[in-house]
Amino acid sequence: MRVASYPLAALQPAMVVNHLRAPRSGVDVVQMVCTLHEAVDVARLRAAWETVTARHGALRTSFSWEGVAEPEQVVHDAAMPDVVVHPGADDSALRAFLAEDRTRGFDLAAAPLQRVTLFRFADAEWVMVWTFHHILMDGRSFPIVLREMFAEYDGAAMLVVARRPFRDFVDWYTTRDFSGAEGFWRERMRGLPGATPVPAGFGEPNATGRGWHTRMFAAEPTAALERFAKANKLTMNNVIQGAWSLLLSRHSGETDIAFGATRACRKGTIEGADDIVGMLINTLPVRVQVKPELTLAAWLGELRETWRSLFDVEHTPLRLVQRWSDMSANAPMFDTSLVFENLTLDATLKAEGGAMASRDFYLLGGTNFPLTALVFGGTEMTLQVDNDRSMIDDETAVRLLGHLATLLESMAAHPEATVAEISMLSAAERELVVSEWNATDVAYPPDATLVSLMVQQVSRTPHALAVRDERTSLTYAELDSCARALARRLRSLGVGPGVLVGVCAERSVEMVIALVAVVKAGGAYVPLDPDYPADRLAFMIGDAAAPVLLTQGHIAPTLPPHGATVVLLDDAATFTDNIGTELPPPSAGDPAYMIYTSGSTGKPKGAVNAHSGIVNRLLWMQGEYQLGASDVVLQKTPFSFDVSVWEFFWPLIAGASLVMAKPGGHRDTGYLVQVMTERGVTVCHFVPSMLRAFLADRASATCVALRDVMASGEALPPDVVAAFYAALPGARLHNLYGPTECAVDVSYWACPPSVVAPQVVPIGRPVANTQLYVLDEGDEPTPVGVPGELYLGGVQVGLGYHGRPELTAERFVVAAVQAPASRLYRTGDKARWRPDGTVEYLGRLDFQVKIRGFRIEPGEVESAVLAHPGVREACVLAREDEP
Ligand code: AMP
Ligand code: MG
Repeated sequence: MRVASYPLAALQPAMVVNHLRAPRSGVDVVQMVCTLHEAVDVARLRAAWETVTARHGALRTSFSWEGVAEPEQVVHDAAMPDVVVHPGADDSALRAFLAEDRTRGFDLAAAPLQRVTLFRFADAEWVMVWTFHHILMDGRSFPIVLREMFAEYDGAAMLVVARRPFRDFVDWYTTRDFSGAEGFWRERMRGLPGATPVPAGFGEPNATGRGWHTRMFAAEPTAALERFAKANKLTMNNVIQGAWSLLLSRHSGETDIAFGATRACRKGTIEGADDIVGMLINTLPVRVQVKPELTLAAWLGELRETWRSLFDVEHTPLRLVQRWSDMSANAPMFDTSLVFENLTLDATLKAEGGAMASRDFYLLGGTNFPLTALVFGGTEMTLQVDNDRSMIDDETAVRLLGHLATLLESMAAHPEATVAEISMLSAAERELVVSEWNATDVAYPPDATLVSLMVQQVSRTPHALAVRDERTSLTYAELDSCARALARRLRSLGVGPGVLVGVCAERSVEMVIALVAVVKAGGAYVPLDPDYPADRLAFMIGDAAAPVLLTQGHIAPTLPPHGATVVLLDDAATFTDNIGTELPPPSAGDPAYMIYTSGSTGKPKGAVNAHSGIVNRLLWMQGEYQLGASDVVLQKTPFSFDVSVWEFFWPLIAGASLVMAKPGGHRDTGYLVQVMTERGVTVCHFVPSMLRAFLADRASATCVALRDVMASGEALPPDVVAAFYAALPGARLHNLYGPTECAVDVSYWACPPSVVAPQVVPIGRPVANTQLYVLDEGDEPTPVGVPGELYLGGVQVGLGYHGRPELTAERFVVAAVQAPASRLYRTGDKARWRPDGTVEYLGRLDFQVKIRGFRIEPGEVESAVLAHPGVREACVLAREDEP
């Protein structure tokens, strides 16, 4: 029989909505697990539950929303909970029960919305699970009910206080007028960029239900945080909220953070509110601006004010706050929530003493947030997170728990620090990401140069086929002679260490002779692609100011005006005069080549690489993939693109042969299939977008000699990996990564056929003598899973940009991430470590784009467009139109 009905309050309407949306999801179902080391008298326990249920209207309440203008809660005279003994009684039975019991949920329209299940593990070892719907009562109420129930059960003399019914609070609540809060909330929520993204795991979570993870926080740092809070007039709640804000900020890269926090909402309501059993709490957005430059104490002081300022508006229903925010009705303001309690429920109840002191209490909640954090005070704090497994996997949740602990430890250890200095990276993890995963030392001959390695190969296999194109071919000895003859000519023209030599040629054997000759002469070659527009060639020729230009007879007349001495390559394959002896070789530190990449200010920039860098890259590659005499490498990448550097030189230092694709052939999949099958190509490179096009041509499956295919230049999509293994099951696909500034590639990963979207194909681990660092804006390494900017260290870091000292200083920086501080290259790439020690590429931090692997700075395009006279005129006119 109904004894009363009244409206819903606080979070109750939202919980009805949750229930209607997903009645079996376990959301808002609370399970209190009580371990009782005593012989339980079931009949007496049942009677005790009946007594407390009869005492508190909240425990006899159901909800009705059909056929009524406004949903209401209905109190019944009798709604006794079932108290049953479960047949199974071991850990697995309990676990299974908890999962089943949670999804069984409750029908909110039918009281009772609570039940009690007993497990008899042994005569004097029981577990009582009290399951109820959160809509009945909040966290302040649970201990009241348990304390009263056990007092009844124990027959302990307990003064039953006259508690005010929940209804009194509801009556007070329903007279609230929230319109006064509108201004506050509009101001508070203005400009929120969206819900702060929840920290991302790896791949797609495919589990269901909720995970709970707990971690204790040691007594010593707990005490230190308490001292710090006290000294700065802060509460532990402020400190915990600060740590949570930092965690969300560091993971998302946002400084404007919002999360949900629960307020007790009892103070300042009605007298005696503290003792009410019912649902009074409210969840509200906490908006935090993370200010790295402030001291921790000053920043947490701001958080304290943010939190305090909510007092006057703390009852505002969330849906009103949502309406007053700039966010649309179905875009949540926050996806995580944080709860801080001074004590765990267990500690609260044990503090009762008597029989209660020997009972253990553990609570399993279940919000509908992807991620909830709960922190309980005490001598040792308890940190807890629970996650919606369909959105965040357990491994990620555990990692986040670690990050929360590390942030708090860092705060405890460095109370004087600035916000930026508070670290989320433990010492052990720092060691892992900085040193262990970067321990790539391999001893290669320290003085080796492209020249010395090629000369050694010539002496090993003089008569083997070195290079061929459609017209001609050369053995190692022949290539060496031709190149040496040309090198002598270059020397006579002043070429030597540090001198740049332009090479403007089509793909051919002569092109190879030219490149080998330039390095033999001690110079550094600068590829000038004859397909490039005249303006761009003119710029590069002028910028490089190379004294000598190697080109072909049919190209020379098309070159823009320049002051260089021209040497024609047309007969290079027949050069036999003036071979002489080997010239004095360049040193390892001398520049070997310079390649132009797009520049954001409108002008391309020449990235210079030393022999030591490219030699390291080639020796690593040979160690890893081992080219042999029978291997055939296809050279198809335009030589203005640095991938070509290994295509040229790797086979030539390893005794394999090099097949030059015909000019323009790299764009023609039919031709590529033909040349690969005809020549038995075993190794080649593809930019992923070209690989996709190549694989789309069914004939690609006939390239059965292919053994290793290298992909690089842009992100490798998983579907291309799948297409690759479908077409070429006998070959291996590798994802290589690296900028032109660091000798082609600095990381590698062998793609297994098993990667599937939405997994990301990692760019892998560092190559030999190379370090990868993922750093935050304060140049501190980020933990596993947390995005930052990728920095590169080691011998492949190039010499910088030709004639651009400021730009060089901006991108090649000295950083102290590892002692001794070393020169690193800032890639501008966003990346993060995976738990397996490989790196994931997550996109660019600037506007650079890749089009079929070619690096393009939109800034360069923009300045070209703006420089067009028509556009300039239009801009002037537009400006005149302005008022
Ligand atoms: P480039 O100097 O032309 O080699 O371009 C280097 C840039 O290309 C890098 O900074 C990345 O942005 C991108 N890139 C190169 N290789 C990869 C890869 N394997 N995956 C994703 N991006 C890549
Ligand atoms: Mg590259």
